[in-house]
Amino acid sequence: MINRKREPTPMLERKRMIREICLATSLTIAMTAQTRSPVAPTPEMVRATVMEAHEKFKGDTSGKNADYIPYLAKVPSNLFGIAGMTTDGRTFTAGDVDYSFSIQSISKVFTLALAMEQLGPEEVFKKIGCEPTGRPFNAVMAVEDLPSRTGNPFVNAGAIATTSLIKGPAAAARWESILAFYSRVAGAKLSLIDEVYKSEAATNAHNRGIAVLLESYGRMYSDPLQATDVYTKQCSVGVTAKQLAMMGTTLANHGRNPQTGEQVIRRENVPHILAAMMMAGLYDGSGGWAWHVGLPAKSGVGGGLLAIVPGKGSIVGFAPPLDKAGNSVKAQRAIEYICDKLGLDLFSPRSVGLN
Ligand code: GLN
Repeated sequence: MINRKREPTPMLERKRMIREICLATSLTIAMTAQTRSPVAPTPEMVRATVMEAHEKFKGDTSGKNADYIPYLAKVPSNLFGIAGMTTDGRTFTAGDVDYSFSIQSISKVFTLALAMEQLGPEEVFKKIGCEPTGRPFNAVMAVEDLPSRTGNPFVNAGAIATTSLIKGPAAAARWESILAFYSRVAGAKLSLIDEVYKSEAATNAHNRGIAVLLESYGRMYSDPLQATDVYTKQCSVGVTAKQLAMMGTTLANHGRNPQTGEQVIRRENVPHILAAMMMAGLYDGSGGWAWHVGLPAKSGVGGGLLAIVPGKGSIVGFAPPLDKAGNSVKAQRAIEYICDKLGLDLFSPRSVGLN
């Protein structure tokens, strides 16, 4: 029997040290490669592109403010801001990024997230569904036609039903937990813009009608009129483009707020939320958006548009004038420009992500 165990000679010791150094070096390279892609755009490029997009589209006067909610018709049409934020906390801004506007339908993303926290994704999927409606966001005909009635969490029917799922016991508690949850996602105390809420509550008969119709089909999960009121409140929450970028980056960061470090949304729920955004985030503009931009996004009639670059960050555009589908014209153009220039389209072989 040969004893293969040998006392370390200086030669063997040197070899062992070299092996260890090689291992440590390759580990460092691998770790660096995870966060810093050698082909991703540099922060300077991102900053310049955000400025360029703002410059290029600020004079665009196409589209029209929403006016079915009287307050929104009065918001200055020339407001225009772009805010990008990376999961490692860098921000890139241009224009009106500190103006507080109503989050409107972008709230639907975060109420969906809260419903999933409370009930789990499969229960929410069963109760709401996730199919395109091919109709405007507040279409009653979609409720009549679709087997699920609710459609998906981002049309008004599905969104009001999602709000009705949030744990009570009563409407006031439901509203409080929604607002508290949004604030945790944003890492900042958010609040209601009271004027928006009053203006919308006085004119939301159509949404109340949708809620009662859903109840007739057994697809409302608490009192329909109270749920519509809580939904109207959630739509009236004020956010700046910068705050919304932080909310988006929490999603991009697998549910963990990059500033507070809190895991607000369960990691495993995030892909479902992004899938719904990809499929229906811009209503019947969603197909064109997926075709041209290729990022999950959500719009609101307040003029906000939030796009997510999974794992990397988010981009927010804010400009009140909307197209026919109810999506901000300038915000769409600016984000499309930025994504194209930086190669962010998830489906493109050019897709490199943000550094
Ligand atoms: N609060 C608005 C409504 O219910 C939200 C619509 C939207 O932003 N698309 O009509």
